[in-house]
Amino acid sequence: MIQVRGLTKSFQSSPVLNQINLEVAQCEVVVIIGPSGSGKSTILRCLNMLEKPDQGEIYFEGASIMHSAKSLIKLRTEVGMVFQQFNLFQHMKVIDNIKLAVIQVRKWSRDKAHLKAMELLEKVGLTDKADAYPAALSGGQAQRVAIARALAMEPKVMLFDEPTSALDPEMIGEVLGVMKQLAKEGMTMIVVTHEMGFAKEVADRVLFIEQGSIVEEGTPNELFDHPKHARTQLFLSKIL
Ligand code: ADP
Ligand code: MG
Repeated sequence: MIQVRGLTKSFQSSPVLNQINLEVAQCEVVVIIGPSGSGKSTILRCLNMLEKPDQGEIYFEGASIMHSAKSLIKLRTEVGMVFQQFNLFQHMKVIDNIKLAVIQVRKWSRDKAHLKAMELLEKVGLTDKADAYPAALSGGQAQRVAIARALAMEPKVMLFDEPTSALDPEMIGEVLGVMKQLAKEGMTMIVVTHEMGFAKEVADRVLFIEQGSIVEEGTPNELFDHPKHARTQLFLSKIL
């Protein structure tokens, strides 16, 4: 579904990603772990071209997204992204946050968008918050709305960048619960997270990245319980 070949990126001549190769199949859940500053967010941002790679190729459903405006538009509408900071529009009600993109981008009628938004609020357990403003939500609720908003576009792939790391501990579970459900339904997902319980339960594959390179990848069992590289072992010993 997604293929990345030799992805390389520098910021002001300091290298951030170095020859990243990655393949994600349909329905696969890939978790990326690694120290702060190792390039995890930059990988996700390159994947939907919020950052332009210096070198390499990214393919989405077989077509390069770097040389075709059409493929890039397809990718932008079919790949959803959820950030650490929820980025909801504060002046819009929850329901309108969720409806906005399908009305503007997909040209859905307001009624159709409304039905879809209510269906998604039910999925994330927030039907009672439809008319609330984001400021009235807890962090966990806001992040569930952000997930519902991304799902409104009916994406084929969801990218999550540390979706629970800004949350108080008691709210992490409710967001991970929604993500687990999505994985169970067969969503293709790339998730940057250090929530090991989630990774062990849901991930098909875990990648450990350090200084812009993939050091090691494997099943959760291989990577967490039998890491081969000393650098992976050292990192895990710090976070577990
Ligand atoms: P991670 O998500 O693993 O913490 P990032 O991908 O955010 O790491 O960042 C990797 C490196 O790239 C860091 O050193 C960061 O400071 C740098 N970086 C990220 N985005 C930019 C940017 N827009 N301009 C300059 N440097 C950046
Ligand atoms: Mg990051």
